[in-house]
Amino acid sequence: MPLIALEDVRKKFGDNEVLKGVTLRVEPGEVIAIIGKSGSGKSTLLRCVNGLEQIDSGAIMVADAQLGDDELRLRALRLKVGMIFQQFNLFPHLTVGRNVMLSPMVAKRMPEAEAADMARAMLTRVGLAHKFDAWPEELSGGQQQRVAIARALAMQPLALLCDEITSALDPELVNEVLSVVRELAADGMTLLMVTHEMRFAREVCDRVVFMHQGRVHEIGPPEELFAAPATPELRQFLGMTN
Ligand code: ADP
Ligand code: MG
Repeated sequence: MPLIALEDVRKKFGDNEVLKGVTLRVEPGEVIAIIGKSGSGKSTLLRCVNGLEQIDSGAIMVADAQLGDDELRLRALRLKVGMIFQQFNLFPHLTVGRNVMLSPMVAKRMPEAEAADMARAMLTRVGLAHKFDAWPEELSGGQQQRVAIARALAMQPLALLCDEITSALDPELVNEVLSVVRELAADGMTLLMVTHEMRFAREVCDRVVFMHQGRVHEIGPPEELFAAPATPELRQFLGMTN
């Protein structure tokens, strides 16, 4: 059974139909890269999966709950799907440790001591346990993004959605973040990530989704998609970014 399933999902902003019938099934533990030109609907797709945007028609299932079911269930579900953005958005007035502790304490009412243990464990996973008492502004962009990943992991999500999480970083900081994602993938985390890092997609992802004009234009294992794109649109896109 897929962990995430989209069936003929449509989404409009005004007259602009941004998702024009997207169907996609993500198996547990699968790592999927979403590629495509700016404006093709990649971020909207992730935001719909996380319930940040309401869909106009079709269906989205995460685990066994359907988005659009009653509000309580939806809220519980949102807590189960982590999302990480290009901008890390750490709270500047909270230490690194407190940033990671916050969601479990607020959303899950986790006791402070337990949340602190959880935060330490998650910061260890991203290699930043020693920064527990540091302030976000003392960290590099790569380190801040790794804290953002730890913060998402602290909610023990079923899946992580990553939207261009290395795009705001200086080039020399990209790899430390991708290494963390690579380890999560190896640990069996289900990942849906919008990325421009083609080499990473090729090496780490099980399947690549090429979005074009609000549709899944091509989908398949990276070795197939990159070596033998079936459509002129993907050929052109790869030519532009490789
Ligand atoms: P991508 O992430 O692939 O660049 P997006 O999903 O961000 O694409 O955007 C797809 C289209 O939807 C674009 O035309 C964008 O302008 C439009 N769009 C995205 N979010 C909104 C919004 N909140 N309101 C209106 N239009 C939006
Ligand atoms: Mg986007």
